[in-house]
Amino acid sequence: MSGHVRARVETALARIAAAQPALQAFQHVAADRALARADILDRADAPPGPLHGLPLAIKDNIVARGIPTTAGSRILEGYQSPYDAAVVERLEAAGAVIVGTTRCDEFAMGSSTDNCAYGPAHNPWDLTRTPGGSSGGSAAAVAASLVPIALGSDTGGSIRQPASLCGVVGVKPTYGRVSRYGLMAFASSLDQIGPFARTTREAAAVLEVISGHDARDSTSAQQPVPVFVNALTGDVRNVRIGVPRHLITGDVDENVRAAFDAALSVAQSLGAEVRDVELPNADRGIAVYYLIATAEASANLARYDGVRYGHRATGVTSLADLYERSRHDGFGAEVKRRIMLGTYVLSAGYYDAYYLKAQQMRTLIARDFARAFETVDVVALPTSPCAAFPLGERVDNPLQMYLADVYTVGANLAGLPGVSVPCGFTIEGLPIGLQFIARPWDEATMLRTADAYEQATAWGERAPATR
Ligand code: GLN
Repeated sequence: MSGHVRARVETALARIAAAQPALQAFQHVAADRALARADILDRADAPPGPLHGLPLAIKDNIVARGIPTTAGSRILEGYQSPYDAAVVERLEAAGAVIVGTTRCDEFAMGSSTDNCAYGPAHNPWDLTRTPGGSSGGSAAAVAASLVPIALGSDTGGSIRQPASLCGVVGVKPTYGRVSRYGLMAFASSLDQIGPFARTTREAAAVLEVISGHDARDSTSAQQPVPVFVNALTGDVRNVRIGVPRHLITGDVDENVRAAFDAALSVAQSLGAEVRDVELPNADRGIAVYYLIATAEASANLARYDGVRYGHRATGVTSLADLYERSRHDGFGAEVKRRIMLGTYVLSAGYYDAYYLKAQQMRTLIARDFARAFETVDVVALPTSPCAAFPLGERVDNPLQMYLADVYTVGANLAGLPGVSVPCGFTIEGLPIGLQFIARPWDEATMLRTADAYEQATAWGERAPATR
């Protein structure tokens, strides 16, 4: 077995290097670190871990010792973490080899990677289009088979939406399932780390490894971690799928709508029961999300002050000048917009009108889901109302960009697990994703449903020409 892992890692590194000019999926390729890791694994006498030798990429907002992390921002250019994220510790303990970081929107704010300060990643299915965001580089890397697995973070859809736009599987776990220790915070009450993979089975195996309690994240839950792959029985005859038809409005692309309806028919033919459910407050999700996420971001990003991390302005005249100049130079337009919005909604006089109202509405949205889950086991929705759009198209229209999150933010606001699984293609040949959302901690039923659907259809087996 000597050299086995090294050979596998070298293959991944070669594929990444060949694809990088066109795809820009990676932010930093940690070749030396990965090869050193591979050699350790090849020499080790210990029994191989469950992910032995698996080359894996992490989103550029998850820290690892010896790898620079920028969160797609100039303000963190050259930053290197002195510690490993909890997910990195767990993956490496399981034998995985981290080959680098993937491109994302600045501080994970966006749906396209257009907001990355270092340039966007490209969609392997059409290089002129977005891979989605904010974890677009991770989705593109897996879709192009540069790595079998990549991690992303999902605050309002940033794993599920790029998975959908790139034709791969993406899982956003229940809030509290995966430690956020070492994830650069965007909106702490919404952020979760999760895997991208080509199949639900691989995603399930990685999810099991990264899940579990961690005392260093105060919101990490004391919940037993099931062997998720054991849930993938292919049998969905006792699964009740709820469809909030009232949310599938005229704004949804007709290709997406057709693929969604066809997917429900497949689920039905597998023996699942498909019935309507109501989520009466879900159409307020976008407004609520963009109030809460910006409020939390304005607080979380206060730490980037030019003193402790990354970019520091020179030639300043005072401490206030240092803060202002460092942040002015370091942050991009979207991040500034969100800090201003978030600061506004938290300010005295507006707090009750915006932030408090949003929190109340968040509770109602969570209650809607809880009520739906009294009669169904999973809720099905399209992941994104449209397939991959051209890079740059929505940069000047942030509201249009925000509206693309309509089907994903609900799971974050309610803390629920969600998965996106490939469910077809548009007439232009762009992937479409199907989303299942489940009860808290019931990733098992959600993944069983996704896997059974995947087994019956095999949409994910189609490969982009660039693969
Ligand atoms: N597109 C959403 C936003 O811009 C979600 C981002 C995310 O999940 N990180 O906030």
